[in-house]
Amino acid sequence: MDRLLISEVRELSLIDVIGSPSIVLWLPYCNFRCPWCQNTPIVNGSIVREVTVNYLRELFSSAKGFIEYVHVTGGEPTLHSRVLKIIYKVAREYNLKTSLNTNGSNPNIVKCLINSNLLDHIAIDVKAPLDNKALYSKVTGIPLDLVDSIICRIKETINLAFKSGLEVELRTTLIPDLNSKHVIAIAKHIARIVGEYRCHSKCVYVLQQFIPSETVRDLKYRLQKPTPIDKLVRVGKEVKDKYGLRVYVRSLDKGIVRL
Ligand code: SF4
Repeated sequence: MDRLLISEVRELSLIDVIGSPSIVLWLPYCNFRCPWCQNTPIVNGSIVREVTVNYLRELFSSAKGFIEYVHVTGGEPTLHSRVLKIIYKVAREYNLKTSLNTNGSNPNIVKCLINSNLLDHIAIDVKAPLDNKALYSKVTGIPLDLVDSIICRIKETINLAFKSGLEVELRTTLIPDLNSKHVIAIAKHIARIVGEYRCHSKCVYVLQQFIPSETVRDLKYRLQKPTPIDKLVRVGKEVKDKYGLRVYVRSLDKGIVRL
């Protein structure tokens, strides 16, 4: 009997896959060390439990009818390719669609899921402008000498997602280190790829609120204020007006709102 390590389960979410009710599973551990990460207990593996495939079957079977997607996040779920495949295969048994949230660092795993017809929707984090190595290193905790290859892999994941015709969400958390110019630079890159693949209808760009809590890794970020909603909306509208992307804002108080 296959046993799987997971961190948390939410049986109903209305915000993780936009417009679709989903079950959310969090998988432990991550290959990034973002100092502002809100999921530290998941990233360092202090919240972990073992479940069986039968557990997944019961979970998905009881959700059938009102859930559309099984969304897997973390941590970084692509660190667990075997577990991901099992979760998605079981989801397919119940005719549920599948969704992955990734930091984009493992294009080969994403490719394998796509080629196995196990993925319908992907949410890829773009944590800083992809041409700003120093900032990407700072906000992800990845040493500067390694960040170049990570950025290449994130770009590859984004290209793969668009090329494969998946529903794609690109998301940026508006942490205190990012200003509107940084977000505009991210959006410019996204708009260029969307234009290349002519996939405007398949792509949404989401600006997320940074919400400090005691589970944030670095004390400096724990002491910050949440991103003000009006800042999220102002920057989001700038992106929408400049690049014509479909832009949403995700926040604690308002949930997910299209601009
Ligand atoms: S924010 Fe995401 S990518 Fe960064 S450490 Fe946390 S789980 Fe990993």
